[in-house]
Amino acid sequence: MLSFIILASLLTSSFMFNSQIDKLKKRIDYIYFGNYIPVLKLHTLEDNFENLITCMRTYKKCDRDPFFKEIKKEWNYYDNAFKGNEERIVVDKISIEVNNSLNYKAKIAQYKDVIKKINFLKQHEKNVAYKKRKAFLKEYTSMKEYLFYNMVILVFISFLFIALIIYSIVKKDNQLKILTKKYKIESITDAMTSLYNRKYFDQIFDNMPFISNANKWNTAFVMLDIDFFKQYNDTYGHDMGDITLKAVANSLKTYFNKDYEYVFRLGGEEFGVILFDIDKETLEECLKDVNKTIESLNIEHKNSKISNIVTISIGAVIYEANSYVSCNRLYKIADESLYLSKQNGRNQYTIYENEGN
Ligand code: GH3
Ligand code: MG
Ligand code: MG
Repeated sequence: MLSFIILASLLTSSFMFNSQIDKLKKRIDYIYFGNYIPVLKLHTLEDNFENLITCMRTYKKCDRDPFFKEIKKEWNYYDNAFKGNEERIVVDKISIEVNNSLNYKAKIAQYKDVIKKINFLKQHEKNVAYKKRKAFLKEYTSMKEYLFYNMVILVFISFLFIALIIYSIVKKDNQLKILTKKYKIESITDAMTSLYNRKYFDQIFDNMPFISNANKWNTAFVMLDIDFFKQYNDTYGHDMGDITLKAVANSLKTYFNKDYEYVFRLGGEEFGVILFDIDKETLEECLKDVNKTIESLNIEHKNSKISNIVTISIGAVIYEANSYVSCNRLYKIADESLYLSKQNGRNQYTIYENEGN
């Protein structure tokens, strides 16, 4: 918008400039060729002398005074108008001749002579006007060109300037976007495991029933917990514990990698998974697979009471679309199912069965 306004104002000012120059040209043309040019005065003077000659030829005692008066007036007007240096010398000479002729002793021949001089001046004035106009036109053209190129440069610089401003704004905007995105991702990610964090879990989990209802989906909520992890830490140290925690997290993330599958670290060595649009058979298949997948990591756990490798226990519940079971209840059921898996010997899954099922 800003660039459009600047461009529009630049173009308008250039058009205005142009029209002003055209006006100036017309005006100067008018001065050279219009009613006020000295040639007209010389025409009047010539007419006066012609009339004087006619009067002298017609009347023996022609009253020359009115002619003299008129000629003097016209000549003074012409004489006082601006003249160049060379022109002034010529006009001064002719001026003497004109003034000398304005008396009763002067003959017709002398007036004819003066008329010739006036004609010479007329031609001279025309030549001067023509030359000046030519010079002016040349100057005018170069002035117009100069202005045009100036305008082009001005528009180009403005464009460059605007482009620079837009570029820096876009750049800043992009940097901000990247920062915001990074912050957004960071704010929902668990730093250690790179899974979604508890905060994000609360958001998704709270909305889970609405999303399921709206899409008529059955949705599973799964809780997973590493078996005898305290003993693992005690046996291999906390650092090794971290490595194992990351390995388990990573294999869960790899397994549940489709759209509508979300894996969270709920805290400690406990994970949560939300699987939208799933039926019980598929869920069972998945959970069986997950137990096997963790086993297949084959991480030694010699002090586990149920195995010699790291295993996990799983508890799950399915939210049926429009069943309106609260999130708190779902969480509790999943937790109880997980507890059942632990009770029943760990390294297994339990899917909560509805009373109706
Ligand atoms: P169970 O099979 O009943 O789940 O036994 P458990 O030992 O896994 O359960 P318990 O809740 O008694 O112990 C959990 C342990 O997980 C205790 C804690 O030291 C460990 N833990 C929690 N968070 C982390 C972590 O970020 N890194 C490491 N290395 N250990 C952790
Ligand atoms: Mg545990
Ligand atoms: Mg635990």
